[in-house]
Amino acid sequence: MGLRADTPVQYIKGVGPRRAERLEKLGIRTVEELLFHLPFRYIDRSNPVPVSSAETGKEATFVVKVLGASFRRTRKGPLVQILVSDSSAQMYVVWFNRPDLKGKFKTGETLLVSGQLSFWGERQMVNPFFEHLDDNPCFFERPIFPVYPLTEGLAAWEVRKAVSSALDGLEGLPETLPGEIMESRGLQDIMSSLESVHHPRTMDEVEPALARLRYEELFYFETLVAIRRRRFEEDTQGEALASGGKLTLEFVRSLPFELTGDQRKAMGEISGDIKLSRPMHRLLQGDVGSGKTVVALYAMLCAVEARKQAAMMAPTEILAEQHYDNWSGVLERIGVKTALLTGSAAKREREKLRSGIEQGDVDAVFGTHALIEEDVQFSDLALAVVDEQHRFGVMQRAALSKKGSYRPHVLVMSATPIPRTLTLSYYGDLDVSVIREKPKGRAQRKTELTSEARKEGVWRWLKESLEHGERAYVVCPLIDESEKLELSSAKKTFDELSARLGADRVALLHGRLKADERTMAMEKFKRGEVPVLVSTTVIEVGVDVPEATIMIIFHPERFGLAQLHQLRGRVGRGERPSRCILVAAGDLAPESVERLKFFASTEDGFALAEEDLRLRGPGQIMGTRQHGLPDLRIADLARDRKLLLAAREDAFRMLKEDPMLAENPRVAQTIRRRHSEGLKLAGTG
Ligand code: ADP
Ligand code: MG
Repeated sequence: MGLRADTPVQYIKGVGPRRAERLEKLGIRTVEELLFHLPFRYIDRSNPVPVSSAETGKEATFVVKVLGASFRRTRKGPLVQILVSDSSAQMYVVWFNRPDLKGKFKTGETLLVSGQLSFWGERQMVNPFFEHLDDNPCFFERPIFPVYPLTEGLAAWEVRKAVSSALDGLEGLPETLPGEIMESRGLQDIMSSLESVHHPRTMDEVEPALARLRYEELFYFETLVAIRRRRFEEDTQGEALASGGKLTLEFVRSLPFELTGDQRKAMGEISGDIKLSRPMHRLLQGDVGSGKTVVALYAMLCAVEARKQAAMMAPTEILAEQHYDNWSGVLERIGVKTALLTGSAAKREREKLRSGIEQGDVDAVFGTHALIEEDVQFSDLALAVVDEQHRFGVMQRAALSKKGSYRPHVLVMSATPIPRTLTLSYYGDLDVSVIREKPKGRAQRKTELTSEARKEGVWRWLKESLEHGERAYVVCPLIDESEKLELSSAKKTFDELSARLGADRVALLHGRLKADERTMAMEKFKRGEVPVLVSTTVIEVGVDVPEATIMIIFHPERFGLAQLHQLRGRVGRGERPSRCILVAAGDLAPESVERLKFFASTEDGFALAEEDLRLRGPGQIMGTRQHGLPDLRIADLARDRKLLLAAREDAFRMLKEDPMLAENPRVAQTIRRRHSEGLKLAGTG
């Protein structure tokens, strides 16, 4: 019997249970999944060149013999060096930071090496791709051969062989795209695409085949998004709310500033959503400091005005407390009863709050995850706001929206500008409002890049600035997932600064502090009692002290650009000019320096987000938010923007015309086979 799409890989000729287990580490369980494990590059041996005739600076592939190998530890890390030759010339091949290669090369072995040829007294290649050829049974079959992503214990030739056998033994793979779409978009069929990608006869075949497979991945992605959105829209148990009543008017009038045009526009869009009984599902995005909170409060007040409740959930206690502190006074003055619910509220206090929320004595609640705990019940929750949504998972967002007896309107907010490609994909089931315009009267902000070697100078400059009455944040580096190390580095900086500036002039803030200690540190800084706040990255989110004008960030190279921009957003909120100083490690790679220079040169959050997307993929921008959508493995949102737009248009049109997929059996089948998980989550958005 031949192989089918869903046959487990272990039944492919030559694979067996042991290799199947290793393939599973790459997320490959079925024949179809193996065939969608695509090469990340190709080596073209159709024109082999001798070592002597290759040009420096160019990519080249050689087949060579090992003459000798050495392993050293150098100041820059471990170094593996081998001397190789073919019949024409000798060359050195070196690998930096690959201790795993120690002892890997033996004199007399045949190797394939592929990389850029350089000249360093002699010919050499640095960190090339390589493969042992002696016991590699399928190397000489084809002139162009694919190079696949690998995992521990799986050799390049094993994956290559598995793919070849799978293609040979295949009964055929069902076409996954509707015929009409293939025709209108000029896409080739699935089998020939896979053949071309894995076994190209010429390199010209690869690009169109890849385009088809990328389109396919995006098409299914968008189909899931469209289904999710439709389910949400069908869920019509929301409550229509009016807007523009007395309460909201009073609120807007009480503000000490004029709303910006974008703020008004966003409010208008929200008003349009909530007057329908279909629940709002909107993303409000705007750069840090663009003034999203008042827009959210406006929405909340529309609910309160209708004698219903509203809630705002923030990812940290600091932020929830700050929202409450900043706004409860304003709201109480216009007759709104507010409350703050966080995990650290004392038990008795919490009981009281809970019953107040349940009885409907409280109109507007600010809080953290504590809001979605099981014992919290609202009497009549009509509108829920999720601040800094990228810190929450799809399940947590859903939990908040299930707190009412019907579906509340939901507004999620993001201070990380989200590139359009993401709002069309991972966020594709939300409507989007954008605040681009900054409030007036914001002073200039400069960003400068310096290095640890100049730390002395930075501290001196800081001391001087403090004498002029400025206030500064000092942010300590992000250390992998380790809160403990992060804390110790913050403590060290805190001690250092206390010694220089006086212990009473510096406060320390980190996530391990108790709530009241944290509040105290924040308060002291806010009131100007201490002019310097040393902090771990807990301050990243939303902290608002308009008088702060200096932001010093250590090891900025460890942060994503979006995250750095968030941090920088803590200053430049008031009328005084402000500065952000990046104190980078001394020995950065040129790419990292470029990246930080780019950051220093632009204030445009959207441009930074696009760059993050390009350099680090969507995870960086979306943070820890689980989206419940499949990861994109073939398509790349930064590169494949056009394909995404096409796929989205096609998927949404298809579902509009054929909501049950009755006329698109290929699509229905493929979703059942590949995406049953994603579909289950579709109702929770
Ligand atoms: P973010 O969008 O980062 O959440 P905030 O809502 O915290 O920003 O607003 C930042 C600061 O700007 C707050 O102090 C807020 O009161 C103020 N603000 C908001 N809108 C305006 C405006 N239109 N004009 C002047 N200041 C404003
Ligand atoms: Mg905010």
